[in-house]
Amino acid sequence: MRAVRLTQVGKPLQEAEVDLPEIGVSDVLVRIAACGICHSDEHYRAGISRMDRLPVTLGHEIAGWIEKAGADIKHVTRGDRVCIHYLAHCGSCEFCVRGLEQFCRSGQMIGKHRDGGYAEFIKVPGRNVFALPDGIPFEIGAIMMCSSATALHALNKARFKAGDSIAIFGFGGLGFSAFQLARAFDCKDVYVVEINPAKLASAASMGAIAIDARSADPIEQIKEATAGTGVDVALELIGSAKTMRQAVLCLGPLGRAALVGLTAETMSILPYTELINKEAEIIGVSDHLATELPTLIEFARSGKLRFPSDALRFVDLDAEQINASLDGFQNPIDHIRTVIRVAS
Ligand SMILES: [Zn+2]
Ligand SMILES: [Zn+2]
Repeated sequence: MRAVRLTQVGKPLQEAEVDLPEIGVSDVLVRIAACGICHSDEHYRAGISRMDRLPVTLGHEIAGWIEKAGADIKHVTRGDRVCIHYLAHCGSCEFCVRGLEQFCRSGQMIGKHRDGGYAEFIKVPGRNVFALPDGIPFEIGAIMMCSSATALHALNKARFKAGDSIAIFGFGGLGFSAFQLARAFDCKDVYVVEINPAKLASAASMGAIAIDARSADPIEQIKEATAGTGVDVALELIGSAKTMRQAVLCLGPLGRAALVGLTAETMSILPYTELINKEAEIIGVSDHLATELPTLIEFARSGKLRFPSDALRFVDLDAEQINASLDGFQNPIDHIRTVIRVAS
């Protein structure tokens, strides 16, 4: 089969002819329809994330059809439309049995530690595939499996519930999904904190309260808009100590700040006045869980989670086109996602 692979860190991906994977009794072989091109793929190619196994086929946002199912697989059959949970996990270690597969002792990220979706076919454990309803196009099924799933996990980690108010720091792919998911949970007011005018305008047009962090202190703006109280939940999706601190400071009593963005910076908090006094919580968020995907898929099926069609760009399973798309992450365009159309 054809695949587009990372053979050397810092070099363009290359096209390769590789053997069709052999599946075991608990695996499935998926004929790939669509695979999203993610910013983290650019980090893998550039060597910003450590790559232990080369060559490897990149791509972890995948949807397609079941081509072959191992003898032990009962929940899907040949021809079924599916999307793929990107963490291959053992299913039996002390974390997996508790449904916490992101800490699996032998977990492997698809498209990093094992071959991913920039290919015609992929082998994954059967437990990684979820039925994709007919109403959800493959390209949406594919891109939902990363940033939307992580946005949902962040809301779940923050114990977000109907009637809660929320501040979302950063309106990129994660923030865009987080906003819609917060709405799907029947939230109260949503504040979107951004410095990018186009993203502020887009958030406002969707019904969020846009907080322009360039014009005044976002904490002051949120406090003012909430009569001095603050919000119930804040999501930090940017990855900077400054905005993480702002996410904590804009919380009201019993507020929860979920930190999703990555940074190596140190964040400072005054324990008594900024945290203890209001019984606020700071929560780390990493990836998402397989058990959360059915809810996400249902939100997409019912139209609560949408991606405007003008936000998608398509490329072929072609190394030159994919490399050009990865190069584009240096100048990200607002809310534009590129998807490889492998088959239709
Ligand atoms: Zn991704
Ligand atoms: Zn495990």
